Amino acid sequence: MFRFFVGFIALVILLPGAVVAEETQPCVFCGIVAGQREGATVYRDDRVMAFLSIGPRNPGHVLIVPLLHAADFMEVPPGTVHAMTDAARRIVAAIKRTDLQCDGFQLQMNNGVAAGQTVPHAHLHIIPRYVGEPPPKTPEDRVSLAELEPVAAKIRAALAALPAETPEPPLPSALPPMGEVVPLSRIKEICAAYGMMDLWRKIERDPPVRPFKSDGCTGWFNEWKGISIYQAGFLHDLKYWAGYPGEEVERLVADAELMNDVARLLKSTAMAETMFHGVRMGGTDKLSASFSWGFGRKPLERAGATHPAAAKP
Ligand code: AMP
Ligand code: ZN
Repeated sequence: MFRFFVGFIALVILLPGAVVAEETQPCVFCGIVAGQREGATVYRDDRVMAFLSIGPRNPGHVLIVPLLHAADFMEVPPGTVHAMTDAARRIVAAIKRTDLQCDGFQLQMNNGVAAGQTVPHAHLHIIPRYVGEPPPKTPEDRVSLAELEPVAAKIRAALAALPAETPEPPLPSALPPMGEVVPLSRIKEICAAYGMMDLWRKIERDPPVRPFKSDGCTGWFNEWKGISIYQAGFLHDLKYWAGYPGEEVERLVADAELMNDVARLLKSTAMAETMFHGVRMGGTDKLSASFSWGFGRKPLERAGATHPAAAKP
């Protein structure tokens, strides 16, 4: 009896952290995050973790939670919300690669008791759904961890084998920075995004010999009264780069489009008109300015030549 008592005291002394920590984690999901409560874990990164629900609507019912306690969606910081949805995409993709039935799925988040939230730690449900599934049980059936673990193992294995996601192409507005050489593939995307496919066909038929890079509106400015006009200069540069000598009408159209673009960006006309006059005077292909009309088609041997500063956009 005495030995048992000493052993019990020793256990309490040896495990104070665990005992105290258990007491300081009243939140069930914080307990799982901290490893003080068992969970059938599927995924974890530096912001979120995912485990199986102990009351699954269907096998493979996953809950994604932020590691830091947040009561509901509104308390989850934006970067963590993204981490939750990124994880959801990958976990769904993984579930679909297992033999779990998943003809469709629900992403569900209940916020507040009135909306059916029973655990006050934000969580995103991934619920696999399938044709012919049994009706829901109320109250839900609780499942043992022993039953959940093989399901979690399947999803973990599928996640590990999942190919990396192809990065999202940049938004059309995210133009390459000033001075950076732009590959033809990106030029094609930009032309498509800005409705300039005629220009792209001209480039594709006969790509200019020099690589394309924009200097925006250097020689003038790239910002006026706090508004960037880089986009207008970039597109104008592209048209100039692809131009052929003698295309006077095309050049006038490009200059007029620059004026329109600048006027729209600045929501005023004076600077747009001034720039139009500037490029009309300075942009001609007769001048050996670095950004004169058709600069992409000028012979490469002249690349090192010093050009007088051009009055260009
Ligand atoms: P909600 O009604 O949206 O708050 O959902 C709560 C979910 O958490 C339900 O799917 C419950 O089955 C699940 N759940 C509750 N306690 C645990 C736990 N200890 N481990 C895993 N899932 C849990
Ligand atoms: Zn919590």
